[in-house]
Amino acid sequence: MNPVLTLETTAYTLEQLISLPEAQIALAGRSNVGKSSLINALAGRKKLAKVSSTPGKTRSVNYYRVTPHDFYLVDLPGYGYARASHTEREKWARLLERYLVECASLKALALLLDSRLEPQKLDKNLASFARTNGLNIVPVLTKADKCSQRERANRQNEWQELLGTRPIVTSSSNRYGIDNLWRALVETAVP
Ligand code: GDP
Repeated sequence: MNPVLTLETTAYTLEQLISLPEAQIALAGRSNVGKSSLINALAGRKKLAKVSSTPGKTRSVNYYRVTPHDFYLVDLPGYGYARASHTEREKWARLLERYLVECASLKALALLLDSRLEPQKLDKNLASFARTNGLNIVPVLTKADKCSQRERANRQNEWQELLGTRPIVTSSSNRYGIDNLWRALVETAVP
């Protein structure tokens, strides 16, 4: 049986998260990558995380408790939203970097990547920042139902080459790979 996911709190600054003593795994990805849908699929619920029809809307940080393992999934705001102001993007990037570097209980960054897109600059930059700072990356391909098996395999190979880790392929629509993803998250948070 998969773990249970419950929304604990919404934070509007990252300070709270940085000081949280329990293990955490952060979920990050470009705006519209399918992060909210993936959280709902992990939870086995339809409306735990809000699926946005307007990309780039969420600027708060939700953290979800995983029971019985007692760690948190931290839902970071999506990045790369074209219409966000430069100042807003800069502010967010600085906060994110501080969190990734300073949060002692952060076990890994689950990096969500769209199965349909070749490795994108913003994703590669974030991955490289995480690696430089010694943070584990759990790469996750989303929306697998939207592309062919061959395309998915190509994407896995490309990311494996870049990160040294083979991405877990998932689809929130048909739940493909969700159990695998849970296993990887639990193993990473509570080894
Ligand atoms: P977020 O901005 O990263 O939280 O992305 P959302 O979860 O809000 O999803 C963005 C859009 O992609 C929505 O229209 C979702 O219905 C769609 N979507 C998300 N995951 C999947 C998936 O696995 N398969 C398909 N076909 N569509 C998806």
